[in-house]
Order: sequence, then C-alpha cells, then structure tokens
Amino acid sequence: RLYNEVIELKGNIRVFCRCRPLNEDEVSSGSGSVVEFDAAQETDLQIVCSDSSRKQFKFDHVFGPQDNQEAVFAQTSPVVLSVLDGFNVCIFAYGQTGTGKTFTMEGTPENRGVNYRTLEELFRISNERGGTNKHELFVSMLEVYNEKIRDLLVENLNEPSKKLEIKQAAEGTQEIPGLTEARVHSTDEVWDLLKTGSRIRAVGSTNANELSSRSHCLLRVTVRGESLVNGNKTRSHLWLVDLAGSERVSKTEVEGERLKESQFINKSLSALGDVISALASKTPHIPYRNSKLTHLLQSSLGGDCKTLMFVQISPSAADLGETLCSLNFASRVR
Ligand code: ADP
Ligand code: MG
Repeated sequence: RLYNEVIELKGNIRVFCRCRPLNEDEVSSGSGSVVEFDAAQETDLQIVCSDSSRKQFKFDHVFGPQDNQEAVFAQTSPVVLSVLDGFNVCIFAYGQTGTGKTFTMEGTPENRGVNYRTLEELFRISNERGGTNKHELFVSMLEVYNEKIRDLLVENLNEPSKKLEIKQAAEGTQEIPGLTEARVHSTDEVWDLLKTGSRIRAVGSTNANELSSRSHCLLRVTVRGESLVNGNKTRSHLWLVDLAGSERVSKTEVEGERLKESQFINKSLSALGDVISALASKTPHIPYRNSKLTHLLQSSLGGDCKTLMFVQISPSAADLGETLCSLNFASRVR
C-alpha cells in the first residue's frame, strides 16, 4: 500500500536504486559491502557508515547485486513502453563512474541493458498493434560535453561531427536542427547504429572510458504513430540517458581542462536535480534553461511526461562518501 501511495504522490517521477556486485578487486582486498537490503521491502536500503551508524533510504524500487538485467527491465518496461501511447519519456542513469550506469542502459552483448530491451519491445508491440496502428521508429544519438552538443550518428567517421544547437520551436517544443534521425526497422539495425555512435564518440579521445565518464550520452527514440482507425497522428520521444560520472574530482586533479570539465558536469547534474525536484514538488517555475541537458529534454520532462532515474551505487566501503552523495541527490528528486 505504501508503494502505491508513493507513486501516487510522486505522479510521473520514479526513482530506482541499483547496487552493483562487489568486483573481483574489492572481494580479493577483503572489503565487504556497506549496503544492506531489506528482504521484505524491495523499496528500502540501509547504508552502514564508518561509525557503524545506519542511514535508511527509500525508493520506488531497489535492485541488489543479484538482480539481473531481466529483473530491472521488468520494472522499467511499463515506463518506457508508454512512449507507444504518445507519452514523452526520459530515463536517466546517475552515479559515480564504475557503478554500472552503462551496464544498466547499454549492457553488454551477453547482458543487454534497458536500451536494447526497450527497442526490442517497441518493435514487438508495434508489430502486434499493426492492425490498428502504424508506428515508425527513428533513432538519434548525441553527446553533451562541456555544454556542447554533438551528433553521434554522422555518416563520415572522419568528418568532425557537427556542433548542434537547440532551437525553440512553436508550441513550446525544442528542435535540434541538423540532428541525424535514422529510421530503424529492427534491433539489429539499432545495435549497428549504437556501435557507430560509440566509435564516433571515441574519435579524438585517447581513452574512451575516461571520456565517457566526462560527458552525457543521449539516445533518443522517436515514435511516429498513426491510427488506422481515425487517422490521428502522434509523435513522441523516449530519451535514454547515460549521465556523466557524478563523482567530485580530487583536489589535486582540479586544474585546467579537468577543472572546466568538472564544473560543466556539476552544473548540468545539479540543473537536472533542480528540474526534477521542482517537478516533484510542483513548483510553477521549472528552471530548464540552466543547462544544455535540461534544455534539450525540456519537452520530455514535466507535464504528463514520465521520468525514471536510476541511481547507481557501489557496495564498497571505499566508495561510501560518493554513495551517500548519490543517495542524497536521489532523495532530493523524490
Ligand atoms: P559506469 O558506466 O557507471 O562507469 P559501468 O557500467 O562501466 O559503470 O560498470 C563498471 C563495471 O562493473 C563494468 O565492468 C560492468 O560490467 C560491471 N557491472 C556494473 N553493474 C553490474 C551488475 N549489476 N552486474 C554485474 N556487473 C556489473
Ligand atoms: Mg559508463
């Protein structure tokens, strides 16, 4: 009952927490987990702090190390699939680098994540509904790095990708002129596109992992629907966002390019937190324009749009400080 009440209160915003397993290094160094799960309540978790005190947190759902990609998608699919009913949807993965943001969203070839599973379901259901509705699916992929927007689906790998701008269109929507929109017909096609996107993302960087933790990666699925019964047309967006790492940089590192990067990341992540908490508390003014990220997503955040945030955490004692920061961020948006 409480779970329903929570959803009722929060309307269209959900927050899930996912804790990854201890990795091999953490196990071999003998560090235990500081995260405790409640076997009876899939909404609760406790953090055991260094002074043995406990901090309790509550979410719409908590996934532990034993919860696999299927279990996560089972809770996620009602939200993502509402894009077929004409809703705009945003899914975010938030957290420190190394906590499983990319694992949750992209996954691996053996353990595919939310992105792939969502598209698979979208194709399946749109075929199923083919008798009464026609759906066309388009995919765009872009990156926000240092408040600059880059198209990741340009045709020529060697061409420097276009810098994109957000244009305010009529009826309060945002357009991104020049952004590549690829029509897709199957999950294989999507998988190939995503690989191209990742390659383009890595161009010009010496360390792809490093870069991916410093920029936001956004996958946009556009569904154009047409009812064969009455001819009504709809267009809705589903955004699947792998956010830049939320960790604070160490003091020794804060210089030059790195300083600039981390200021941009802080700014955009806190702007995102501000927007979601303003929406959750039904504040009249929503500060979308404070970052490229929130401005880009403006027409898919708020109103009757659906929002789901995955707060990714590490179980390791060594990450306790960052884990508490992420959980506190999440409490702010609930
Ligand atoms: P991030 O994108 O937040 O930096 P990654 O998704 O790259 O983190 O995850 C870091 C490592 O942990 C990867 O090797 C990933 O496969 C692994 N990992 C993350 N979450 C899980 C999980 N739930 N189960 C198994 N392995 C995981
Ligand atoms: Mg990542």
